[in-house]
Amino acid sequence: MTWEPTSPDADFDEFRSLLRRFAADRLAPAYPRWRTEPFPRDWLRDLAELGVFGLLTSPELGGTLGEGGGYVPLGIAAEELSRGDFNVSYFLQLQAIGSRLLGQSDSPRVRERWVPALVRGEALASFALTEPATGSDAASIGTRARQDGTDWILNGEKASITFAGNADVCAVFARTGDVGARGISLFCVPLDTPGVSRRAAPSSTAHLTQRGSIFLDDVRIPGDHLVGAEGGAFKAAMAAFDFNRAIIGLACVGAAQQTLEETMEHVRTRHTFGEPLAKREGVAFQLAEHLAHVHSSRLLAYETLRLADQGRPHATEAAMTKWLAPKTAAEAIHACIILHGWSGFDNDLPLSQRLNDVIGLEVGDGTPEIMKAIIAREAIGVVSHR
Ligand SMILES: Cc1cc2nc3c(=O)[nH]c(=O)nc-3n(C[C@H](O)[C@H](O)[C@H](O)COP(=O)(O)OP(=O)(O)OC[C@H]3O[C@@H](n4cnc5c(N)ncnc54)[C@H](O)[C@@H]3O)c2cc1C
Repeated sequence: MTWEPTSPDADFDEFRSLLRRFAADRLAPAYPRWRTEPFPRDWLRDLAELGVFGLLTSPELGGTLGEGGGYVPLGIAAEELSRGDFNVSYFLQLQAIGSRLLGQSDSPRVRERWVPALVRGEALASFALTEPATGSDAASIGTRARQDGTDWILNGEKASITFAGNADVCAVFARTGDVGARGISLFCVPLDTPGVSRRAAPSSTAHLTQRGSIFLDDVRIPGDHLVGAEGGAFKAAMAAFDFNRAIIGLACVGAAQQTLEETMEHVRTRHTFGEPLAKREGVAFQLAEHLAHVHSSRLLAYETLRLADQGRPHATEAAMTKWLAPKTAAEAIHACIILHGWSGFDNDLPLSQRLNDVIGLEVGDGTPEIMKAIIAREAIGVVSHR
């Protein structure tokens, strides 16, 4: 009998199995291709058909959100699809964040134009907070929005934005007032608007994630493309981070679990000095430790999402997950590379690619130090990261 991680909720076992098969049959064989080739846009619709983009969206806007909430199944999707291709979790994250933020708009031109299209995989969302001079200190952004009649004019530069190169719409955070977090507003910016230009930066995931810069040069958007209250967007950004940190955690868990399972198979069959590697405690105990660490990250992530589904506060648990899961995943995958010997390091296996991809999300959506500052501030009460 081989140990399997417990499912967080048996109601989703069928959904989990469907996604695990898709990850194994469709995503895993193609994962190395996106090192050099662009990710085909029609795959986005194939992902949408799995039902993974509408989990946080009400049926009126084309989604499947019911009374039980959609965060736990979104986490299951991140965990399972990341077993095949870690970077596919970015589609889950950005479609979920995009439809949550744009779905809050009072304007049908924003809500109805974009949200159903995101759910169906016909449009791709991005989220632009970070700037060249401000990452962790997000309340200090300098991108400006000023009113001109009923329109808004946006100027500024956003940096390290996932899908900068290929998104259709962007949730842009810009300053409409002078004071810190309270002066930040959210705008829906269709990325074909005149004055928008973008540049995807070279990186190991560039062909799939197209992460890079978005430049806003006198970009004129209609007044109803301000989403939510003027000056009230920082809270919305932080709320999106909260659930997404657990989604990232589960993407890391999926990649690590897959790697641990592949490595368990390797150590059962690879012989040195006349015996399978698995017979050595020095090998088996390493895997045992990493399985335990990864499983504890999994439980914390699902606990965070359960709180979110119940509408209860979960910012601290989300920060704990975002600190712990990428770190334990990176440590586990690193150990698995070494346990494979040269074959783990070479590109014929996806282990080095997974390690690199997981490290990207140790930084993205909040670094370990910022996560620890959030946990410490909540727990101890006097810690400031400003
Ligand atoms: C893969 C990836 C995807 C991303 N996608 C997006 C996206 O879609 N949209 C978006 O807006 N942004 C995105 N980002 C940007 C990301 O959110 C920022 O990189 C992150 O918030 C950190 O900001 P920074 O890189 O400017 O680092 P900095 O803020 O300059 O920090 C540098 C280092 O200093 C440490 N540090 C900073 N302040 C403190 C402090 N007070 N105390 C102790 N240590 C501190 C940090 O922990 C870090 O180690 C992405 C980044 C990555 C890597």
